[in-house]
Amino acid sequence: MRGRASKELPGWLSGAIVAGVAVCLVGLELSRGLRNRKREPKLVRDARNLALAAGAGLVMQLIEKPFAMRLAGRVERNELGLVPTLARSHAARAMLSVILLDYGLYVWHVLTHKVPQLWRFHLVHHIDLDLDTSTAVRFHFGEMLLSIPWRLAQIRLVGASPLAVSIWQMFLLASILFHHSNVRLPLPVRIERVLSFIIMTPRLHGTHHEARREHANANWSSGFTIWDLLHGTYKWREAQGTIGVPVYQEIEDVTLPRCVVLPFEPQVEEWDVSA
Ligand SMILES: [Zn+2]
Repeated sequence: MRGRASKELPGWLSGAIVAGVAVCLVGLELSRGLRNRKREPKLVRDARNLALAAGAGLVMQLIEKPFAMRLAGRVERNELGLVPTLARSHAARAMLSVILLDYGLYVWHVLTHKVPQLWRFHLVHHIDLDLDTSTAVRFHFGEMLLSIPWRLAQIRLVGASPLAVSIWQMFLLASILFHHSNVRLPLPVRIERVLSFIIMTPRLHGTHHEARREHANANWSSGFTIWDLLHGTYKWREAQGTIGVPVYQEIEDVTLPRCVVLPFEPQVEEWDVSA
């Protein structure tokens, strides 16, 4: 199989699928809300979250993507990494790559909570006072910049092709839109719980965004929840508590300028105040 690199998914196709998922979720949020509490006007929050998303998206498109795809092409042409040693067919390699890249992101998410220099950036994602589809794309551009070396290491170690990377990115984006959404699934809660053993659901990820340290230190998976189950970090709670981080519970704490400068300021003990 040594030779040519695969092509990534056409941008229009992954873009259309992700946009379709986003439109469906925003529609469902209007009729099937999971969490009732709205602490800020929706349009103000959406505008702020989209402004942060624009910075993060620029970093990903202009810096991460060219490096990632060039590396993935070289990795595939030279059969580098783990996957070529485990599978022969393109389909099996792509599937295995998606699973292993998903695990790499679980580890990265844990690190963004545990390493203070990373947490100060990931904190910007967590201080949103409500949680919905717009939170899914609300990341500080610095967190995206810091994640690039990790992403490249993932691709190199896994041995992911351009096609596999693009499938994973589409799956990941659809998944993070889904599990951040404020949508009550049309399922009995016990069936929803079974589903949450397979994929990250809005209720399960809602627990990760609660203003309690022991809840934020759980449910780190971004796609498949097997990683939380294997690491003992899966935490099921039917109820949804206060969203955010305890010391950033006022609207003045989470304005756009505050969000942009927050990682560069002296950090406080965020979890001091009990929610
Ligand atoms: Zn987190």
